[in-house]
Amino acid sequence: MIAEVFIDIPAGPVDRPFDYLIPEALKSSVIPGMRVTVPFGRTKRLGFVTALKETSELPKLKKIDQVIDPIPVLTDELLDLGRWLADAALCLTVSAYQVMLPAVMKANYTKTVDLKNQEQLSEKYPSLVPLFSSGKSADWDELVAHHPADLRQIRLAINEDILTVNPQVHNQAKAKKIMAASAEASKEELAAAAASCDGRSGRQKEALQFFIDNNAGERFPVTDLIKNHHLTRQSLSTLAQKGLLKIETVEQLRDPYSGSVEQKTKPLPLTDEQAKAIRPIIRSVESSQDQIFLCHGVTGSGKTEIYLQAIERVIELGKQAIVLVPEISLTPQMVHRFKARFGDEVAVMHSALSRGEKYDEWRKIREGKVNVAVGARSAVFAPFENLGLIIIDEEHETSYKQEDNPRYHARDVAIRRGKINGCPVVLGSATPSLESYARAKKKVYTLLTLKERFNHHPMPPVKVIDMREEMRDGNHSMFSKELFEKITDRLNKHEQTVLFLNRRGYSTFVMCRSCGTVIKCPHCDISLTYHRANHMLKCHYCGFEMRSPDTCPACGSDSMRYFGSGTQKVEAELNRLLPEARVIRMDVDTTRQKGGHEKLLRQFGGHQADILLGTQMIAKGLDFPEVTLVGVLAADSMLHLPDFRASEKTFQLLTQVSGRAGRHELPGEVIIQSYTPEHYAIIDAAGHDYERFFSQEMQIRHRHGYPPFYYLALINVTHPEAAVAADAAGRIASILKKNLSSAAQILGPVVPSIARIKDRYRFQCMVKYKREPELIPLLGKIERHFQETGKDSLQLSIDMNPVALM
Ligand code: ADP
Ligand code: ZN
Ligand code: ZN
Repeated sequence: MIAEVFIDIPAGPVDRPFDYLIPEALKSSVIPGMRVTVPFGRTKRLGFVTALKETSELPKLKKIDQVIDPIPVLTDELLDLGRWLADAALCLTVSAYQVMLPAVMKANYTKTVDLKNQEQLSEKYPSLVPLFSSGKSADWDELVAHHPADLRQIRLAINEDILTVNPQVHNQAKAKKIMAASAEASKEELAAAAASCDGRSGRQKEALQFFIDNNAGERFPVTDLIKNHHLTRQSLSTLAQKGLLKIETVEQLRDPYSGSVEQKTKPLPLTDEQAKAIRPIIRSVESSQDQIFLCHGVTGSGKTEIYLQAIERVIELGKQAIVLVPEISLTPQMVHRFKARFGDEVAVMHSALSRGEKYDEWRKIREGKVNVAVGARSAVFAPFENLGLIIIDEEHETSYKQEDNPRYHARDVAIRRGKINGCPVVLGSATPSLESYARAKKKVYTLLTLKERFNHHPMPPVKVIDMREEMRDGNHSMFSKELFEKITDRLNKHEQTVLFLNRRGYSTFVMCRSCGTVIKCPHCDISLTYHRANHMLKCHYCGFEMRSPDTCPACGSDSMRYFGSGTQKVEAELNRLLPEARVIRMDVDTTRQKGGHEKLLRQFGGHQADILLGTQMIAKGLDFPEVTLVGVLAADSMLHLPDFRASEKTFQLLTQVSGRAGRHELPGEVIIQSYTPEHYAIIDAAGHDYERFFSQEMQIRHRHGYPPFYYLALINVTHPEAAVAADAAGRIASILKKNLSSAAQILGPVVPSIARIKDRYRFQCMVKYKREPELIPLLGKIERHFQETGKDSLQLSIDMNPVALM
């Protein structure tokens, strides 16, 4: 038998199956979807078996070395999905397979140098002998790190076959093993042994009593017996020696959420709107249809309850469900809602889990121990074998698109899996992406609408404040008069306020007032942000840091000034103006530690602070009953980004932030501060009018030829020298112009708004198209050509349907 194997080397020329012979001994244990190790060139690599066959066209084949997995890690469906993804996202097939698996399943490669001929080594290379004194083998990385002077001689000895190099592949994915004890004898025998214990064997008697009292067949972790039941290790092992107990190593699943669910929740009686929305979903689930639903429901309309009840039906039918939630919304509260309804049926795939925990959650899915997977983007690859439903909550979120290779969109993958499995996909949002809503209007997707909050509380009133007028009235503060008054009022009433600002740091740029020099990152074409805590300037793109200079590096003047406000500055202002207010600041800088995010939210939820100030990360999912005021400090900050989705993103963000107020008994209100209050994205968000925003934005997209009227492909070229990158981008543009239909528009090469990142100059070409069957094959050819000839550090990346243009 012969196996086709994709080798774990992310390079175009080897991205194809290679034939390997399956040795006699492994005949029955190699199945497609498994990982194996194989000799490749002069090394050993991990590979994915994708198919088996009887014959090969090649005369001489190498053999598979080892089988790593007991069961296939990729199901047949995922093997197929990987091929589709490689094509649709223009990525390598192995990269597609890797992205479907937990990171810990990536192989770790090492090499050892092994001693083959002791005598000759002593004779010819006596200086190397000490390196092999502790054994016959030395780790290559170790030698490189600690014995660089010996490397030349080592190489010679290898050439003379005195030493040999042994490549090794390590599987990092390991199940956690623990010691567990169980009764090996009947209750009567244990009781008899306990009766014959004397004063000196009192501890043994206690241990025996424990196993008499507790379920005889069960295995108990030894550490648990010692810690929680006060048994001694000594007595347990003595009893094991006597054959009364059995102590063995067993696999244990790490469960990061164990013990977090006290009581299961029951399905709530649905409102009329909810009942109407869930009916067609259930019908689709029951008849295994690959229908796509867009559930457009305002925040608080009870979409999650619909998801929960639809999943319940899926489980009843013996099928499984995937729920995708944006990373930052995957809070403990969110997870709890699923765990509280479905208990142990749920696996959670969250980036904050340790690698081992992620692996175990993944195994629960693969081994069929759970029926629901809740997770961020990559959970769309959950290896269920009988998928009955896929839900994507907040479907408009751009984090569903992976920004680096493979550049897949979870929505596209979900829809593909829905087709393959005959299962419905539900996209949910209060502010659907224009693409999805347009498809729903054209009846490609089925639109389900929830217009009311479940408790019929009205949406909060939103007031837009014109900051230009504030300026004219002499108010140069970052708070308008009205917002400041309302914050003070909430403080007096002991109610809470949420303030939103989309910029972290203290000041957004530093400029010399004498000569106008703005301090920029030396590696990127972008200004540095001032962080006051340590008086540093930071690049938010590459992480570069420097001390903030006291004098201008260009003219030497000491009139350096800080402009623009970030969250740190707002915090300082609040402390100055309202010293009695307790403020929690939440941004990347204050939540870097594991669990930091939750800790701050818990503090705010416990009313240990009056004001929560933060960036995007506070826009979602927060649900605090005592929040009665939401303030948006600079609504325009996203509006003027050079991206055709700037208005859409602004509308979505403002709507989400507004949704944080008045969700419960206390009525809430929202203040939006803006320098362009006449912009429709701001007016429509304030009016809670999605339809109106949609139709205005669609006109603009139509006029400028953007999605959803056209598809986009973005080609990025980077190189340390601007001219080289420009030239390559120019060549690509002319190849595209020559080969695509006249209906396609090819823009570029153009310099993107950030012209340089990490010392590499960037150029882009953009293709706008409706139907170009030749586009993907052509881009594939261009990409391969670059990989083969791109030795001079020219880098090319292709992004189909990009979500960000910068
Ligand atoms: P969404 O996901 O649309 O923002 P949620 O599902 O989070 O809305 O619902 C908001 C709140 O309303 C939650 O606290 C939820 O428990 C409650 N809720 C939803 N549906 C019902 C219902 N039918 N009866 C009672 N409470 C409900
Ligand atoms: Zn930088
Ligand atoms: Zn200057």
